[in-house]
Amino acid sequence: MQELPQREIPGPRSAELLAISAASEPPCAADQLPIVWDHAERVWITDVDGNRYLDFTSGVLVTNVGHSHPKHVEAIQQQAARLMNCYSFPTPERVTLSQRVLETLPPNLNRVFLLSTGSEATEAAIRVAKRYTGRFEILSFWGAFHGRTFGAMSVAGNMKTRYHFGPSVPGAVLAPYPYCYRCPYDKQPDDCGFYCIDMLDRVIESASTGDVGAVMVEPYQGASGFIFPPDGWLKALEEWAGERDLLLIVDEVQASFGRTGRMYAIEWEDVRPQMLCLGKGFGSGMPTSALVAEEQILAAMKTGELSSTWGGNPLASAASLAVLDIMAEENLPENAQEVGAHLKKRLLALGEKYDCLGDVRGKGLVIGLEFVKDGKEPAPELTGQVVFAAAERGLMLGKLGIYGNVIRVAPPLVITREEADIGVDILDRAIASVLD
Ligand code: PMP
Repeated sequence: MQELPQREIPGPRSAELLAISAASEPPCAADQLPIVWDHAERVWITDVDGNRYLDFTSGVLVTNVGHSHPKHVEAIQQQAARLMNCYSFPTPERVTLSQRVLETLPPNLNRVFLLSTGSEATEAAIRVAKRYTGRFEILSFWGAFHGRTFGAMSVAGNMKTRYHFGPSVPGAVLAPYPYCYRCPYDKQPDDCGFYCIDMLDRVIESASTGDVGAVMVEPYQGASGFIFPPDGWLKALEEWAGERDLLLIVDEVQASFGRTGRMYAIEWEDVRPQMLCLGKGFGSGMPTSALVAEEQILAAMKTGELSSTWGGNPLASAASLAVLDIMAEENLPENAQEVGAHLKKRLLALGEKYDCLGDVRGKGLVIGLEFVKDGKEPAPELTGQVVFAAAERGLMLGKLGIYGNVIRVAPPLVITREEADIGVDILDRAIASVLD
């Protein structure tokens, strides 16, 4: 395999900048590797000390087209020289982007409200759902993460997001998500018959006031540890919601734009939500997000009730147009599917080799590695050690999850099979060194 030199972390320049950060910024990323990024190209990051790393994080699932893709950079540079901002006046870039995005989506989704962050998109979805349905409750799931603004936070399913913020926005009704490795009902996915879908009526009976208007769901849970529901589950949820006249809101802020091997994760089972939240890979580094919805649903909002200073700004729109072009020209969803399948096969083999690797799951280029000890007990400390040992050997990984024991494997979608192999080899050696 290609050897990357072992390096000391943090390097001297990183250490200097981290000290400045500690003295001037909140400790918001306590779990982060002590590395200061300097520049990056495709799937390769260089830190301020000149060390190179293979990026298995995509800068937290953002840079789907790879870091500083020349076409992306050129579109941004040209637009920056022409027009960067004009608040809510339409521009050719914005309206063309809206039209182009709709062309990639199921026909029922025929209106786009462009925004900047994922939280803005989920927050907008919640506001619109309440107005359109006239009902204030939203069914969401244990472990869900939809952002950190108050509405989004209120439908979150983990304490980390809501911890000690006092009462949240009323109306959240939470149900177990199919975390099959740790099934809350102690069932097996191959013969449970989607017991957790059947239980949704019981959840509503016991926790709702009878005013549930919508269901909000991630197609796989990102922040809680890349938790994938079993095949058919999202479709079953869609049917369940439809039979009860509930709007289905799918939060693809993380899953969209090729990440799972399809442009959108809803394509895998031909799911047709009434609202869809997009973000992250949409701008691939420039802040772009969107709430996509059926026309009559957004029509429930009056003039002036949907706005955001940066939403659809020409600079972000030009960048996202370039993203759509690159996705199509380089067949990135297909590449995510192909390289992802190879990567998963190799990671499953690591799972066979190491008992501490309890579960390997995922689709496309989003694969979670759950680390355990003594059977299935979460092993967050070991997970952190593996992430660190991998970074020392030139592989950038992130860790997350409800128990902090999941390594996320999510490289930019331009990664080649050879580069994926380099990453797995480094990970293999990192695990071995920690267990040594
Ligand atoms: N929804 C999901 C599914 C996410 O993964 C995230 C971000 N991790 C958000 C919403 C919030 O996005 P942002 O951080 O851009 O506000």
